[in-house]
Amino acid sequence: MWTKPYGRTGKNVSVISFGGMRFPEPANIAKSAELVLYAHAKGINYFDTAPYYCEDKSEDIMGAAFKQMPRSSFYCSSKCGEADGAVFRASIESSLKRLNVEQIDFFHIWCLVHPTDWEARKKGGAVAAALKAKEEGLIGHVVTSAHLNGTDIGKVVDEGTVEGLTIGYNALNFPFRGEALEAASRAKVGVVTMNPLGGGLIPNNAARLEFLKGPNDASVVEAALRFNVSQPAITSALVGFANTQQIDEAVSAVANFKPYPPQHIEQLKAHIRGSFDGFCTGCGYCLPCPSEVPIPRLMEAFNCSLLDQGDASLLSRLSDHWGVGPDAALACTECGLCEGRCTQHLPIRDRLKHIGTLKQ
Ligand code: SF4
Ligand code: SF4
Repeated sequence: MWTKPYGRTGKNVSVISFGGMRFPEPANIAKSAELVLYAHAKGINYFDTAPYYCEDKSEDIMGAAFKQMPRSSFYCSSKCGEADGAVFRASIESSLKRLNVEQIDFFHIWCLVHPTDWEARKKGGAVAAALKAKEEGLIGHVVTSAHLNGTDIGKVVDEGTVEGLTIGYNALNFPFRGEALEAASRAKVGVVTMNPLGGGLIPNNAARLEFLKGPNDASVVEAALRFNVSQPAITSALVGFANTQQIDEAVSAVANFKPYPPQHIEQLKAHIRGSFDGFCTGCGYCLPCPSEVPIPRLMEAFNCSLLDQGDASLLSRLSDHWGVGPDAALACTECGLCEGRCTQHLPIRDRLKHIGTLKQ
């Protein structure tokens, strides 16, 4: 398996990594652990989990698999989203036990959703607790996972505390995260991308996204993974595997693969931008909104409904990815300022009205 250096940590991580959030039968720990072992045998060496994933069984599943894997052959990652330092510390200790390891290689200050979240984690003691655990050797590297826009992620990275980032990045949402990748490159921090397949949107809309496929790509999924891992700033694409076929497909996407050259990536980006009329590109020029409506987040979620013509994906995008509900749209007073600034001339007010009518 092709590996890349994870920032300046000295660790080399497989370009496809295992996300432990989609085990189909999490109550069956032994059977689920077999999937982890299968991926490990295929060369995947980075395994990501967290408390609460898969009915709170994901860490136990990983731990059951880790017991059967030589410790020097894999890296593990877990997370805590608490701001309180004491609670954060207890969470690290619990994850260590459940994962059956003496050190968690990458520990995430989990889920920065609002621009104020990083300051809150510092104020509450979580960041200090993470750094202390690192000093004691309980964790290898302090990293973070964020759903912020690129600029806000960049500010966190530039502070220099974290050695890695886990962010959502794929062929559909890349305009939202360009600045984050630039900041990561500048600070030499590793980047693991979650949702490289758009949380299922890409395989579910394969016909519409056929143009992603080059002559050497076997499928749209393969092309989407290659788009991700070809970018120098991205260390690894984290795929939530539910079966061995998905592992095989992802592993074969990067086997004997030479990264797309930068011109090809830029051509793909231009094609994607040009192919979706009415898509929000995440540029952020519509902000600030006097009523503090999180316009780019709501419009990005609206992109999902344009793709599969449904509100269900819009709603799940809002709650699962952006951490906001449809009622965030109700704060709009229809002043129209944002539409005057929108680079894509989107009917933002109409879209917000529609979102505001939806029930979570
Ligand atoms: S129209 Fe609504 S969303 Fe746009 S700037 Fe005015 S209040 Fe904000
Ligand atoms: S200006 Fe338009 S395209 Fe850019 S983030 Fe705002 S709504 Fe999206």
